[in-house]
Amino acid sequence: MPVIESKLPHVGTTIFTTMSALAHECGAVNLGQGFPDFDCDPRLLDLMNVALRAGHNQYAPMAGVLALREAVAEKVATLYGQHYDAATEITITAGATQAIQTALTAIVHPGDEVIVFEPVYDSYEPVIRLNGGVPVYARLRAPDYRPDWNEVRALITPRTRAIMFNTPHNPTATIWPADDLHELAALLRDTNIFIISDEVYQHMIYDGARHESVARFPELAERAFVISSFGKTYHVTGWKIAYCLAPRELMNEFRKAHQYVVFCVHTPSQYALADYMAHGTHNQLAAFYQAKRDFFLQAMRGNDLHGHGLPNNGLRWLESAGTYFVSASYAQLPQFVHLSDRAFAEYLTRTVGVGCIPLSAFYHDAFDERTVRFCFAKKETTLLLAAEKLSQLFHTR
Ligand code: PMP
Ligand code: GLN
Repeated sequence: MPVIESKLPHVGTTIFTTMSALAHECGAVNLGQGFPDFDCDPRLLDLMNVALRAGHNQYAPMAGVLALREAVAEKVATLYGQHYDAATEITITAGATQAIQTALTAIVHPGDEVIVFEPVYDSYEPVIRLNGGVPVYARLRAPDYRPDWNEVRALITPRTRAIMFNTPHNPTATIWPADDLHELAALLRDTNIFIISDEVYQHMIYDGARHESVARFPELAERAFVISSFGKTYHVTGWKIAYCLAPRELMNEFRKAHQYVVFCVHTPSQYALADYMAHGTHNQLAAFYQAKRDFFLQAMRGNDLHGHGLPNNGLRWLESAGTYFVSASYAQLPQFVHLSDRAFAEYLTRTVGVGCIPLSAFYHDAFDERTVRFCFAKKETTLLLAAEKLSQLFHTR
């Protein structure tokens, strides 16, 4: 049998798969991997049925069903004032994961450096490496986890090919305001550096804040691949459909790679989503998830919630300004602080019965601030059950 020389010798199975499997094995409430435990709008399911029955069951156009690209163009123009041509500047992908993979593949040459912000979403770094690139790490620091632009400036070299941007940010649940985008613009002016902007949580932004899309800033948009995911926005993460926006020259290169990764993506869901987008439900998403965040945090902090009055579990909750995640620190709990965040996450899953994600999984050096991430995209009954289980935290050890 030939010996395979791994291209990713240090990569194992993703933390999301690992923690979901453990939660399943233990029968724990799974607040680890980010996905809703409720169904999508039944109208979307009906539209899928219509699309299937209408015979939309063969290959879609390589760049995606035109009606869906047009609906995306209209939404982006309305929200961010930037006009992308549906024919040449928008491509429908198999999830944001593929869009990120394809954008990186289109631009990264062996030896190129790509700056990422740590903690960093887990798919970026392996794809940079698969293309022969070198990830370069800029650190987001507690408590606000905003980019340190002086640090980023110092990391730029003649080999810097791209910067991965991600707001609202997974896993820190921070949002990066317009100031950060102005800093980014100033930094990249007169360079040949591209931006890959991961905006899958663009509609999950709270307390009246505005999402600062890279698409809003012409100076940034001209060098950017902007990526979002229908899976997040419409509660259908399993459909794996997303889109990428980029100026024509960039999109041309993107499509050269895209056509040989998937050629095209699932046809009927594209028709269903194209029709469904006319309902504009993305506009209600922020209020919907803000209510879940508040419900979850009240329950976790032990405030009287619908008369449940759970005792405080002692975790210290970080801000969640966007995404459907919120993290908690246990550094202040003497009985647990000696545990690594992986050990603590495993303890919570196995013994307390609540699955979560250790934040060290998002650092190349396993930096450990004794913090774990929870997903609140769940039914209230699920969130309450998790809060009840976590309220036992002090009594289980
Ligand atoms: N980027 C970030 C920051 C994410 O959190 C996720 C998934 N949750 C993705 C990309 C991938 O999205 P998709 O499921 O559409 O591939
Ligand atoms: N993006 C999701 C999260 O952060 C997980 C997606 C996946 O499992 N790859 O939880």
